[in-house]
Order: sequence, then C-alpha cells, then structure tokens
Amino acid sequence: MSNQLENFSCRRCGFCCSIPGYVNLEEGEAERIAAFLSMELYAFTDQYTTLTLGRRQLTLIEKEDGRCIFLEDDNSCRIQGAKPVQCIGFPYKWRSKELEKGCAGFKALCSASKLLVVKSEM
Ligand code: SF4
Repeated sequence: MSNQLENFSCRRCGFCCSIPGYVNLEEGEAERIAAFLSMELYAFTDQYTTLTLGRRQLTLIEKEDGRCIFLEDDNSCRIQGAKPVQCIGFPYKWRSKELEKGCAGFKALCSASKLLVVKSEM
C-alpha cells in the first residue's frame, strides 16, 4: 500500500475526523488556530480544547456525535488553513489500519489496486 500512496486522494468522507481518539495540539498550535479564528488564546482553549488523559497535552474537543468540533456538515474542516500537524500528516506521515478500513480514499485505492492486479494477470 505505501508505494501506492501517491495515488491517494481525499474523498472528503470525514471518517478520519470522526473516529474516536485525540486530535492533539503541538506546541504553538493553539496560538495559531486561535489567531486563525480571530480569538483570544484563552477563549479558544476554553471553548475548543480539553486536556488529554495524563494531562500532558491539549486536544480538540468533539461534538456530541464524536465528530471533531471543527468538522463541518459537508465534511470540510473549519480550520483548514490552520489545522493541526496531526491532521496534515494523515495519511502520508502516519496512518493506522483502523483508519484505512473506513477511509473512502483508501477504499478507492484498494479497489483500484485490485483492478491493476487483475489486469496485470490477464
Ligand atoms: S481539525 Fe479539521 S482535519 Fe483535524 S480532525 Fe478536526 S475537522 Fe478533521
């Protein structure tokens, strides 16, 4: 799969922004996102973040249905211009089997690669 990642394209299914788990903020990201939203830092952290278990890092909060607080109804990211490094890294810098199972982009990649295998076997 990794050598086919250049053919990956995001289908905006929203799966990666909806599964349970932390969206961690690295150092300086709270300031960056707060500025993007034209908010004071404290107002941003108070309204949109909480501490991870272990209290070592800030993470974005979720909506009641578990989707990221910044995931819009059309599956776009409200903070696209300032989204966390963790989000930017998927799927090129990191990914997981759990994410690959539900991600529409990976599903398309898998079915395309099966087609390629079938074609090359002909
Ligand atoms: S910040 Fe944006 S890209 Fe990251 S999980 Fe939330 S909606 Fe998705």
